[in-house]
Amino acid sequence: MTDFLPEIISLNQTAFIRGRNIIDNSLLAQEMTKEIWDKIRTQGHKVHWHRLIWYPMHLPKHSLIAWMTILNRLPTSDRLQRMGISTDGICINCRIYQETRDHLFSQYSLVVELWKSILNLNGMNYTALTWDEMVSRASSTWKGKSLITIILKILWNAFIYSLWQERNRRMFQGRSRTVDIMLKEIIEVVSIMLRGKSINRLDSANFYLCNA
Ligand SMILES: [Zn+2]
Repeated sequence: MTDFLPEIISLNQTAFIRGRNIIDNSLLAQEMTKEIWDKIRTQGHKVHWHRLIWYPMHLPKHSLIAWMTILNRLPTSDRLQRMGISTDGICINCRIYQETRDHLFSQYSLVVELWKSILNLNGMNYTALTWDEMVSRASSTWKGKSLITIILKILWNAFIYSLWQERNRRMFQGRSRTVDIMLKEIIEVVSIMLRGKSINRLDSANFYLCNA
């Protein structure tokens, strides 16, 4: 479980919550991951979104963050406030709305632009959806073992991971990436994961993703 802590807190981060020492932050992160771990162990039944994140080619660190996002267990500002931890609660990206899971992963320009660009790679059109609608639609349509289904799952998990990583970079390191850079990094992930797999490289979407 400690292997996953850096992914949840963020890379090279000196503080989980600004103003608190690193011991407090580590304890808080452990508390949050324990909650998730207990759910992993006790969850007897499969939920409808199970196959969105646990599929044969999944990348564990991406799936863990996507899973925490679906369960709404990431330390977003609204959750920290509910836990009695003082933060300004404002989204680091737009500085207007409260930072919630739904806002961070479905409701502002960076998310929309990034997801639109990802869908464009696959020749698909963007439709504005709430977080719950997105999970529900993906769960009901990305089924089977077709290449496009696998690619969409890899892309979606990488997309969520990238958004959480970006939020942490902006909040704790004062650094930011553009949509283009985030997209390029996501394509690289897909390209690495599909390397050596037998797929139709003549398909234009596949060609682009596999030769990035
Ligand atoms: Zn925002």
